[in-house]
Parts: sequence; C-alpha cells; structure tokens
Amino acid sequence: MSKSVVIIGGGYGGLRAVEFLAKHHDINVTLIDKNPYHYLQTEAYGYIAGRFDIHDIAIDLQKWCLGFKRKVLFVNEIAASIDFGKQEVITETKSLHYDYLVIASGAQTNFFSFIEGLKEHSHGVKNLQRAHDFRQEFEDIIYKQLQSEEHADKNEINLAIGGAGLSGVEVAAEMANVIQAYSKTIGDRARAIKIYLIDASETILPGMSSYIVKNTQKRLEKLGVKILTGAFISNVDSLYIYFKDGKKLHYHFMIFTGGIKAGNLNSAVESDKNRIGQFIANQELNINGTKNVFAIGDCVEIRDGEGNMLPPTAQIAEKSAEYVAECIRKRIDSKQIEPFDASVSGMFIALGGKYAVGEMFKFIKVKGYTAYLLKKAITHAYYLGLHLRINAGYKNRNIPR
Ligand SMILES: Cc1cc2nc3c(=O)[nH]c(=O)nc-3n(C[C@H](O)[C@H](O)[C@H](O)COP(=O)(O)OP(=O)(O)OC[C@H]3O[C@@H](n4cnc5c(N)ncnc54)[C@H](O)[C@@H]3O)c2cc1C
Repeated sequence: MSKSVVIIGGGYGGLRAVEFLAKHHDINVTLIDKNPYHYLQTEAYGYIAGRFDIHDIAIDLQKWCLGFKRKVLFVNEIAASIDFGKQEVITETKSLHYDYLVIASGAQTNFFSFIEGLKEHSHGVKNLQRAHDFRQEFEDIIYKQLQSEEHADKNEINLAIGGAGLSGVEVAAEMANVIQAYSKTIGDRARAIKIYLIDASETILPGMSSYIVKNTQKRLEKLGVKILTGAFISNVDSLYIYFKDGKKLHYHFMIFTGGIKAGNLNSAVESDKNRIGQFIANQELNINGTKNVFAIGDCVEIRDGEGNMLPPTAQIAEKSAEYVAECIRKRIDSKQIEPFDASVSGMFIALGGKYAVGEMFKFIKVKGYTAYLLKKAITHAYYLGLHLRINAGYKNRNIPR
C-alpha cells in the first residue's frame, strides 16, 4: 500500500526531499508552501543590487511539481499547525493526512527585541518581498542621485547593513561593486552612496576561517565598504543608528542580517525548542518523540555525529533532506536507520562582480575569478536541476493527472 509523505516548505530542504522521495512508486508526495514560488535566497545579493532578475531567484512551485513523472501534489497554503495524534497538517482550508511528515519551513530574520526600533526601521532579506523592497529602494537612491544638482559631498547617502555574516557580506559587496561601476558613468553622484557593514563581533564573518575572513575584509575595503566591527547597536530610529559607545550613524535605509529565528509554524507546534525557537530533534531528526515526523534545514538545530552544531545553510538543509528521505524509505521497508551525520563540504562567498572567496574540504582555498567560477558552477548546477523540472512541468501542464 502507498504511503503519504507531506513536506512543509518548498525551500532548499523541502525541494531536495521531494526530489528524493518522488522517485519511489509507493510514496505519494504532497508539498505545502505558503508562497507559490521557491525563493533562491542564496542569490538575493545579486537581485538586490540589480544584477539578477526576478526569474533568476524565483521559480514557480506548481510547474516544478508538474515536472515529476509521478504525481507530486502542490498545496499553496500556510501550514498552521500539526495534529500528531491524527497525523494531520492543518491549513486554512483543509487537513492533510500523512504517514510521514517532513517539516522544512526554514527561518526568518531575528530582529532582536533588545535593540529598540530595529524591527520597525530595518528590513530582512529572507523573503522575496523584503529583498524586492530593498532592490527598489537601491534603484531609487541611484536615480535620485543622478537627478540631484547638489554637490556629491553635500548629498551623502548611507546604506547600512546590520550583521556581517555570510548574507550581510554578500549584499554589501555586491552593492558596493555596483556603486563602483556606476561611478565611472555617473561619477561622484554614485560615489556619494556609502555602504556601512556593522557587526558587534570583533571581525566580519564570525566563526569562519582566517583565510576567508582576511580575504573578504580586503575585498570589501577595496570596494569602499565601511566596516564597523565591535559596534553594538543599542537602538534605531527613523534617521539614526545609535551605538552603545555613544556614537551614531545617519542612515537612509537599513537591512538587518544579524541573526535568524524559527518561523511561526514552530511556535504552533508542541515540541522541544532552543532559544531561537528551532526544533531540537533526536539523532534521526525526529521531533516530539515521534518516529514519523522529521525536521530539516533552518527550522531545526542540526548537529553532526559528534554533537557539534552545524550552520543554518542551504547546503545543510539539502544534506538533512537527503538523509530524511532515506530514513523514510528505510522505515517503510522496516530497515535499520543510522544517526544523522554531515559536515560542511565548503563555502564560497560572492564578493561583488566576478570575485569570490572560498574553501573546499578545508584544504582547497581560492579567491578572485577562480573562486567566482567555482561558485557560479555550483549555482548553475542547482539552476539546471530546477529548470529541467520546470521545463518538464511546462510541457505537462495540460495533461490531466
Ligand atoms: C542573502 C543570503 C545568502 C545566503 N547564502 C548562502 C550560501 O551561499 N550558501 C548556503 O549554503 N546558504 C546560504 N544562505 C542560507 C540559506 O539560504 C538557508 O540556510 C536556506 O534557505 C535554508 O533552507 P530551508 O529549506 O531550511 O528553508 P528556506 O529555504 O527558507 O525555505 C522555507 C520554505 O518554507 C516555507 N514556509 C515557511 N513557513 C511555512 C508555513 N507555515 N506553511 C507553508 N510554507 C511555509 C517558505 O515559504 C519557504 O519556501 C543564505 C541566506 C541569505 C538570506
């Protein structure tokens, strides 16, 4: 008899789980997402800076689901809660039964409540709407600068990025690169736009290797990014960012990439959670003492085989998805399951234009154009997979299933 697997969240983890589960003829897969599209947030930096277009960072989930040989049902609704007893996911209009459930609902920006005014005055980039707002604002600022008759010195515009982790650094570098390129065509007016990258830690990219930190810092400085480390933001109002040491920065637009917390579904689900609301799972990534409910990606605290916490990245979301898909197969076949174990295979950071810095398997270190080509190859492979499905889905769109 066929088993029903419901997957909540069409992000990096959710899509990988669908890919791995939909190939089994005795598994019926249903994907639920509150958005009709998959958002490639790892490419948000390029969209914000105007280098990529909307179709580079979003793909239609309905068409993607139609691209499978076996039927993959797509439900475009918010999963509001889960009834573990009845084995049902509850949305606004329906209750969906599951034999196995994969929660891949990701995370959201953590606008720390101890920083007064942060949530009201800054924007995240973890959803497409926010990234789009920021892109428009960035374009408007450049356009206004072009129209301005004031001397550039009198017209300085500060764009602030709070949080110098992976996403903050990539956004800062890409915007600075655009400004540098525009300086050639629209001159000092573009140069009057300053990018500030702010972090409370002593260095940018806290926790990353010295090779990555040192070379990223060099590149950002070369692009003219103003880096403020050891800078604790105490509060934000509509004009200024105030720091604990008494200094303040006048700003025009602020994005915050300083941390994540789990999304709303986690709050509605009864289970052990950590201080940022992520599920605490067992070694098989099951939650709430169940054997058939799994959590993957950013919505759960994920550890390697030795108990070390793994970073919330697309890479780990995908690795956890592959593991869980295999677990479900083995549970159906009554086979033994090994505990989850994974490591970060590498990290590439896009640093504006055709420049990146990266490390693979801890010993391969690259920077500049070579690193850019490697990062591009990884992204291209991901795109290719998505587009093969989308093309097949487009062809299948009128075939009744
Ligand atoms: C600017 C930026 C750059 C990054 N760069 C990198 C990088 O270079 N490399 C890397 O590995 N990682 C990178 N990351 C991190 C990476 O994007 C995340 O770790 C990854 O998206 C997590 O995948 P996920 O599947 O857990 O969640 P997500 O990709 O966030 O997907 C979650 C999905 O769940 C849906 N959802 C949420 N709640 C509900 C609900 N209640 N009902 C229905 N649907 C719901 C959402 O709509 C979404 O589609 C970057 C992040 C950002 C913001």
